[in-house]
Amino acid sequence: MNSLSTDPFLDVVDVWKHYQAGEGQLEVLRGLSMRVSCGERVALLGQSGSGKSTLLNLIAGIDTLDGGEISVNGENLNGLSEKHRTLFRRRHIGFIYQSFNLISTLTAMENIKLPLQLNGAVCEEVQQQSEQMIDKVGLAARADAFPDQLSGGEQQRVAIARAMVHRPSLVLADEHTGNLDAQTGARMMALFNEIAAETGQTVVMVTHSEAVAAAADRVIAIRDGAIEPRTRTGGDGLAWQ
Ligand code: ADP
Ligand code: MG
Repeated sequence: MNSLSTDPFLDVVDVWKHYQAGEGQLEVLRGLSMRVSCGERVALLGQSGSGKSTLLNLIAGIDTLDGGEISVNGENLNGLSEKHRTLFRRRHIGFIYQSFNLISTLTAMENIKLPLQLNGAVCEEVQQQSEQMIDKVGLAARADAFPDQLSGGEQQRVAIARAMVHRPSLVLADEHTGNLDAQTGARMMALFNEIAAETGQTVVMVTHSEAVAAAADRVIAIRDGAIEPRTRTGGDGLAWQ
């Protein structure tokens, strides 16, 4: 990790990505570029199918791009082998999914401990940080419950704790309030923001919710696989790129 080049923290440059669709190709990202500064919280808005999840997966190193470059904190993901991308993701990235993606055979506490264990933290640290995090998301009393014994909102709180327990420098959230009712979604957002602000984490969150977008420092609109050049400032002072 090159700790000297921190600005921009996330640099997405002219990224192209296609999927095979039958005989033809579906061009999903078409020369998409965006920059995010260290500690910035950005909301990514765009219609269904515009390539938001594809972009997050590329930033997380879950998938590989066809053209362009993505670097996180000065580390160019293109240059990493699959193994190194996995290690990079484990250490530096927290990912929150719409469908929670908790491991059903592990308890809430065990799910939260997992990133620390995978990163080789010592037992005491695993225990301490997980306890602190489960407390922060208000689920200490449900530590031994399995995901199917928890409500949607509770599962998402476990997912937030799991994504942030190892203090990743970049947190990616893909419609993390999309499966929750408005009130639970708003509570989740407040919790998420509180933890991110406390730790100074850089955040990129995909959302359909105006309320979620309003809590971001900047809103980036994506359309047809590229950043929408249109600039507008919402009535609530939202800065649109
Ligand atoms: P969004 O998250 O903005 O809704 P996605 O990035 O999930 O959009 O998908 C963009 C487009 O790519 C959609 O048309 C989707 O059907 C297609 N797509 C996504 N993943 C795959 C895949 N693994 N194989 C083929 N097509 C895909
Ligand atoms: Mg999506």
